Amino acid sequence: MSIIKSSQTHPLYKDLVKIVGEDRVSDSRVVMSAYSKDACHLTAERPEVVVMPETLDEIKSIAKICNSTKTPLVPAGGRNGICGACLPRIEGAVMLDMVKMDEIVEINEDVMTVTVEAGLRWAELIHRLDEKGYKLGFRGPYGGNAGTVGGSVSINSIGYAASKFGPSTEGVVSLEVVLANGDVITTGSGWNKDAPIFARYTTYNDITGLFLGDHGTLGVKTKVTLKIYPKADYFTYGDFGFTSLEDASQAFLEVQKLGFTEELNLLADRQSTDTFFPGFLDKHPEIKSMFASVVQEVDAQLAQRKMEIIREIALKHGGKDLGNFASQMHWSELFNLVQPLYNNGFWLNTCHLRPIPKIPALMDRMWAIFEKYQLLENGIKWIASCLGAERAYATGWVTIFAPNKEKMELALKAWNEMLDSVIETKGCPYWNGLLWEKRALKQTDQKFLDTYWTVKKALDPENILSPHVFEGGF
Ligand SMILES: Cc1cc2nc3c(=O)[nH]c(=O)nc-3n(C[C@H](O)[C@H](O)[C@H](O)COP(=O)(O)OP(=O)(O)OC[C@H]3O[C@@H](n4cnc5c(N)ncnc54)[C@H](O)[C@@H]3O)c2cc1C
Repeated sequence: MSIIKSSQTHPLYKDLVKIVGEDRVSDSRVVMSAYSKDACHLTAERPEVVVMPETLDEIKSIAKICNSTKTPLVPAGGRNGICGACLPRIEGAVMLDMVKMDEIVEINEDVMTVTVEAGLRWAELIHRLDEKGYKLGFRGPYGGNAGTVGGSVSINSIGYAASKFGPSTEGVVSLEVVLANGDVITTGSGWNKDAPIFARYTTYNDITGLFLGDHGTLGVKTKVTLKIYPKADYFTYGDFGFTSLEDASQAFLEVQKLGFTEELNLLADRQSTDTFFPGFLDKHPEIKSMFASVVQEVDAQLAQRKMEIIREIALKHGGKDLGNFASQMHWSELFNLVQPLYNNGFWLNTCHLRPIPKIPALMDRMWAIFEKYQLLENGIKWIASCLGAERAYATGWVTIFAPNKEKMELALKAWNEMLDSVIETKGCPYWNGLLWEKRALKQTDQKFLDTYWTVKKALDPENILSPHVFEGGF
């Protein structure tokens, strides 16, 4: 950050330099401009100074100085979110860029956990574990080249292997968190100063859960301990096509309930498959909807047998065996899979959770919107994909692609109606951020919200951590 000169005008600039040195602080307008967005188009306030800590002690000191001066402090990970969650809602904020906190602290083979610094990116973690013969449960959001572990568990990310292991937050055993006043807490078995970090639920209530999905409002996560599993080398893949979304959803639900699949993805209409895997369905004009399934096991026969059972279920619901191109592509491309979709234009997403039987109702609403705004005629493509998530619900990520600036206004109109439809059809967003917050707040039970604010006031009485998040500002 030293190449571009800081303006040195932020009131805490000199204090921050004292804590981390000049090279890791900037309040230059050029640098702030680069920090003014995440991976979506939504905007809020720009941070006014950015600091890149490398140690726990630095973060403690930064929190203390912000707390004593009542200066807003906003943690950021890879800034790869697509809901504007890491953007300040208030002027004068210090942004805490966590990406230099990226070490693997410990792989504990006795209790099968890995402890990482919160700024570590998923792609690197997965690679490093693989070399040691281990895999994670949840294996990162599809944007895991850039997304960090701390960022993902702060916003309930869902993605690879969520079908078997659930969202990012399900795999968390313990957190190390710096509170607003600079105190540090280690959750899970960390309450016992002499015990190793090995379990989430012991002796007290689940303090870990308090910080998961908090959007950085209750503390700064500095370490995250995750469950690991023996690496499993045997894969089977299966793609199955259906003539109706109803049949596809029923088969999808039955397979998801079994918990066999590492990854189970439904493409809800023909257009979505044509956009995701162009040409794949050309020889199957009757197919309207399909799912791709991936099984990963430690034994070849086990992997084979599980796929046979999935096939039987698909065929029972009128499915057609389409081979395994889509599922293999989907799995083996990992974090590079969705990046090329930007070729279709800028993404406007509606990522949320819903029970699997409610997928057809969502698609009826989406189709009405696609037709009302004549998206196809206007060259606006979409992908309606549902990822099976732990046990028996799904994420719906219905994304439309604005191909150019001229079509953006039309796409935005359609997208806003799509967001309303998601809530009206009883969907629950997993992230909140600028994308969902106003809509989510309208639906939120007041007692639930009051309880959150009681906790927030107790942990952060000066309201310095990501102020105005969950208030509907911007
Ligand atoms: C191509 C692409 C594909 C994507 N695919 C998916 C997907 O499949 N699933 C999915 O869920 N998301 C997806 N995303 C969005 C994004 O990648 C994820 O949500 C990711 O988990 C965000 O992590 P991050 O480190 O970038 O967090 P950021 O965007 O930097 O921050 C997210 C939130 O976490 C808070 N935060 C960050 N670090 C900390 C910390 N250490 N302590 C406390 N709070 C913190 C921030 O304040 C903010 O509220 C995708 C994005 C892109 C661009």
